[in-house]
Amino acid sequence: MSDNSVAGKHILITGGASGIGAETALLLTKRGARVTIGDLNEVDGKTLVERINDEGGQARFCKVDVSVSQSVEALFASAIGELGNIDVLINNAGIDHDPKFMLEIEDATFHKNIAVNVNGVWYCMKQALAHMLENGGGHVINISSVAGIRAAPTLSAYSAAKHAVVGLTKSAAVEYARYNIRVNAVCPSFVRTPMVEHVLSKLNERGQKALISANPMKRLGEPQEIAGAIAWLCTAESSFMTGHTVVLDGGMTA
Ligand code: NAP
Repeated sequence: MSDNSVAGKHILITGGASGIGAETALLLTKRGARVTIGDLNEVDGKTLVERINDEGGQARFCKVDVSVSQSVEALFASAIGELGNIDVLINNAGIDHDPKFMLEIEDATFHKNIAVNVNGVWYCMKQALAHMLENGGGHVINISSVAGIRAAPTLSAYSAAKHAVVGLTKSAAVEYARYNIRVNAVCPSFVRTPMVEHVLSKLNERGQKALISANPMKRLGEPQEIAGAIAWLCTAESSFMTGHTVVLDGGMTA
């Protein structure tokens, strides 16, 4: 296998039924990886798996709620049972919340963001690290956000959760580097997915323009642009990179 190949690798993608996760599943399976998609959204997940398999790729769907540890345990058992050892975990499932100042955000919204975006990543990382330790190595790729490395006014609960994802990434990377396990994070700014379409639908024209042109490129990222970077991380070409946050933001944080 060449250094830039993902062929034959078993890659588990949470939240792989939609947006960035779905584009990543499509790209990786086109390049010969075997993909397990774990998602709450059974309808979209199964439709995507059907499309991938029809196009000659290899993918499976497994329903999961990443905020529930038993559900994550079942996802890993099913993925390993059906497609064998996992080479790469892409921790991509995530939610945001309506833009509001901190004092207007309900506690329940904060707790939900932590449950999915932090606890979900934590449960999946624990399963993956234990499995990869037994198998002599692997790679965990956590999808954080630019909201995980800088202020995100009106998105404080989301931002808190995404900062935690960067913290988990860095600590685990240092702890497990000696065991041939890499842990990296990807931090996109606004990308054209159902998540961002939903935010845009709540804004007036001025707000929409401000969001879309919030970076020097003056446009949204495309999910394919994030998938391409994730797919490269899945290869051995990135083999010396661990504990890193790959920022894909059209220059927003430059
Ligand atoms: P998306 O289109 O909304 O896709 C997210 C997927 O995750 C959906 O299929 C969703 O299912 C699923 N999901 C939600 N909660 C889940 C749970 N508890 N367990 C399992 N699956 C769950 O979002 P996206 O924009 O592609 O975002 C993917 C990741 O990138 C997220 O972590 C997000 O925070 C991050 N990100 C996105 C952007 C952006 O601009 N789009 C920027 C920075 C970071 P349902 O459809 O049923 O909710």
